[in-house]
Amino acid sequence: MMETWRLLDTGSLSAAENMALDEVLLELKAEGKIPPTLRFLQFSPPCVLVGHHQSVEEEIRLDYCRSNGIEINRRLTGGGALYWGKKELGWEIYISKNHPSVPARFDDLYRKMGESAAGGLRHLGVDAWFRPRNDIEVQGRKISGTGGTELSGAILFQGTVLVDFDIDVMLRALRIPTEKLREKEIESVKERVTSLRWELGVPPPLPEIKAALLRGFGESFGVTFDPQPLRPQEQTLLKNKLPYFSSRDYVFKVRNALRRRKTLSSIFKAPGGLIRVSMAVDTKTRVINQILITGDFFAHPKRLIFDLECLLKNSKATPSRIREVVTAFFANGKPRIPGVSQDHLITSMEEAIQKIDLLPRGFDTEATHHLYPVLKPFGEVRKPDILLLPYCAKETECPYRNQKGCGECGKCSVGDAAQMARSFGMDAITIQNYEDLEATLLQLKHTGARSFVGSCCEPFYGKHRPDFERIGLPGILVDVDQSTCYDLGLEKEAAKGEFVNQTHLNLPLLQKVLEYAHG
Ligand code: SF4
Repeated sequence: MMETWRLLDTGSLSAAENMALDEVLLELKAEGKIPPTLRFLQFSPPCVLVGHHQSVEEEIRLDYCRSNGIEINRRLTGGGALYWGKKELGWEIYISKNHPSVPARFDDLYRKMGESAAGGLRHLGVDAWFRPRNDIEVQGRKISGTGGTELSGAILFQGTVLVDFDIDVMLRALRIPTEKLREKEIESVKERVTSLRWELGVPPPLPEIKAALLRGFGESFGVTFDPQPLRPQEQTLLKNKLPYFSSRDYVFKVRNALRRRKTLSSIFKAPGGLIRVSMAVDTKTRVINQILITGDFFAHPKRLIFDLECLLKNSKATPSRIREVVTAFFANGKPRIPGVSQDHLITSMEEAIQKIDLLPRGFDTEATHHLYPVLKPFGEVRKPDILLLPYCAKETECPYRNQKGCGECGKCSVGDAAQMARSFGMDAITIQNYEDLEATLLQLKHTGARSFVGSCCEPFYGKHRPDFERIGLPGILVDVDQSTCYDLGLEKEAAKGEFVNQTHLNLPLLQKVLEYAHG
């Protein structure tokens, strides 16, 4: 006879109520007091839920959530932070670990649960499939995330279904690692997510979605479902636990002091386009929490970058592991990204993770977004001979604006930087245009210079990185402070040395870099 599981539909509850009820049900399952149970849940008001081990301050934009009536709470399960709109639907399964339908291996459990829910969504006419490790995707775009935890032989496994999702609110509520991404690239983050509304035009009525999921789980586990209300014991325990799950002690229990998630970024100019990598890394465990690979290259199929991101998530942020994952991905998937090789992707990721080494050396993460390596990792640029300064940082009225040199009159940051260079026993040279830069670097290399430190804007670095590599003198470049000719669309004038606006050197960061390279 077919086994029957309990179906518990608790409707819309607050974040604290839902989290408290998770614990109630898991504990009762662990004590053998409730049958296998599938629960449907929703959240009202909307909320953000951090993973069990995450710090709220690191994951959530608190001010935005507070001023927009978004509740904040902590899941029992691990994984990353989630935003839940009022229309999203959650499903949960409470079951014994030794139940004959439960796979023993964790990966198999994730697969079985994910395939069950994906099978359910397909009954709605959505082409949903499980994607390792824990997503359900439609044409490469995530429509559902899953995760689980266990307690004394009982398993709680849960998943979301994005029904009518507001991704703009999610991007504002969560600290997605977009610090270095521009508007266009943030837009591309949206291509990674979908919802039933986007797939079907209108979201199906909620009872239909629930029925489809029940069909998916029923088929996969060979069970039927019997709707039942919360039991009196469950209600009592929920009431008892609610104050704790509503308390700051619980929600904020992983404190700011343990802050160790850092966002690291890099840009890499491949022949096929600019690659930007932005990753959130747990600096203690060196695990990648999240990674975004964006840029103006073309990938075929389009989803493959999203699939690669999913594989890299939760991987070790080490060069060897990244190489392993990317190489296996290219070997299996035969992806086509014209002008972007697996080595280009690996290098761009390695350059992001090498910034971890700068953190104990007095650089904060914000500072690391403004440093660009030339030819060698930062740590291998020792005792640079020369500081190269861009003409566009000179006063627009300065007599030296259109010629090399600086009178150190104190009116702009170029003079201060030149003095700073001298204090490290280095020369400073101002660079008037791109040809001047190339000639200067070649000359320096010819005369046996070891390396250089320079300043330029990020777009200049992005564009000329292949030139720096061709010339072959290692160095560190420090971003300038102000809006640049590239941002203003005046790069032609800048290349000729005719850019009339003034940029500003980031003197504190230059000082730190010189101390680091001479330390
Ligand atoms: S500090 Fe040098 S570059 Fe700046 S205005 Fe004075 S002379 Fe010109």
